[in-house]
Amino acid sequence: MNEYDSNRIYDFAKNINYKKTDKIEEADCYVLNTCHIREKATEKVYHDVGRIKKIFRNKNKPIVVITGCVAQAEGEILLKKEKYIDAVIGPQSYHKFNEVILNIEKNLCKIDSTDFDVIEKFDYLNLFKNSDSNVSSFLTIQEGCDKFCKFCVVPYTRGPEYSRSIEELVIETKNLVNNGAKEITLLGQNVNAYNYEGKKLSDLIFEISKIEDLKRIRYTTSHPLDFSKDLIQAHKKFNKLMPLIHLPVQSGSNKILKNMGRNHSVEDYILIINELKRANPLIKFSSDFIIGYPGETDKDFEETLRLLKEVSFINSYSYIYSPRPGTPAATMKKTDITVAKNRLLNFQKTAEEIKIKYRKRLFNKISSVMFENKIGNKGEYFGRDEYFNSVIVKSEKNLIGKIEKVRIYEGNQNTLFGKIEDFKNKDFAA
Ligand code: SAM
Ligand code: SF4
Repeated sequence: MNEYDSNRIYDFAKNINYKKTDKIEEADCYVLNTCHIREKATEKVYHDVGRIKKIFRNKNKPIVVITGCVAQAEGEILLKKEKYIDAVIGPQSYHKFNEVILNIEKNLCKIDSTDFDVIEKFDYLNLFKNSDSNVSSFLTIQEGCDKFCKFCVVPYTRGPEYSRSIEELVIETKNLVNNGAKEITLLGQNVNAYNYEGKKLSDLIFEISKIEDLKRIRYTTSHPLDFSKDLIQAHKKFNKLMPLIHLPVQSGSNKILKNMGRNHSVEDYILIINELKRANPLIKFSSDFIIGYPGETDKDFEETLRLLKEVSFINSYSYIYSPRPGTPAATMKKTDITVAKNRLLNFQKTAEEIKIKYRKRLFNKISSVMFENKIGNKGEYFGRDEYFNSVIVKSEKNLIGKIEKVRIYEGNQNTLFGKIEDFKNKDFAA
């Protein structure tokens, strides 16, 4: 979502004559768009501002603006502690970006813009066309969260749930597609909680799937509680909907899920997985896990490992629990850090073994790959298969924006390598 927000900030900034630059030592303005989900985020801001200060030691000071969730959560402190920062702008007020910059240019005053103006923000955003699109582009459809899991800062930094209208989203999708996007990833902190005047995520998918030049649709991040029947059925009905679902579970222990305030059990989660597989047997899953949550015992951790193996996630993102100031879990008794680190290593080793096994099964099979960009000058192209696996092939013709059948011949942890194949062959990967 920060990538989408950064692109939109740039769409505004162009109108007051700012351009992107790679020459960081010549920039007139720095925008650090930040994430606050785990600790160290604030230290990173101070560190990055320190680097800018060093570059400009003997030159005129550039404008330095901190946007995103660190600005929302700690903006006042940032402005007080680091005088080099000119403004902090929260994720729900970045439509005021140009106004803030113009004011700084005029008066050089410090600005704190951290109101929750989400309706005003999207109304304003709709006035600005997306300047350029990648073959695979993001589109924020929903923001904020009302669930208040006990470990998470999102409800405090992004505010309450808000869904954009279907009409404006169809217009923005068409705009992205006209600019060259072939794949759209619909974004939301709880993307499947999308609800605009009774219209749900499945309705939006139906509407945008009518756009002919849009070939692939993804959505992230969904929550088990919002996995409604219509969305499950959408995976049967719409073949533009990719068969990889990112569905964070956080833990395989019902006791821990309860302590996290997730409001669902492991059994509820498995039920959704099975229903989705019934709707489309090709579907695979990825997930997020928090390791070492307060109160996690060896037995709880074993249950998480068991779930990991049972579902056989093709990608698992795991993190040690990070206490966030102001959240209920921050005051709970912490799991010993050495224990948590060992569990994380153990978890990641198992997750990696599952992933390697899965990827080996893809060798010598054919995948459908959408190509996003050229790599260097060696005639290599980078793309992704339907399961979001990175694939590299060599080709003399320009593949950008094309979907090709590719025979995978080898791969490492991160990338698969393949050759474009005449697709009369029916050996498809799943
Ligand atoms: N809304 C999604 C859900 O409920 O599954 C997740 C969105 S959250 C922005 C992304 C991920 O960050 C979560 O799935 C969780 O694993 C991780 N996360 C959030 N707070 C965390 C914390 N305090 N410590 C460690 N990981 C955390
Ligand atoms: Fe955070 Fe997701 Fe829980 Fe909302 S549902 S509080 S975004 S983890």
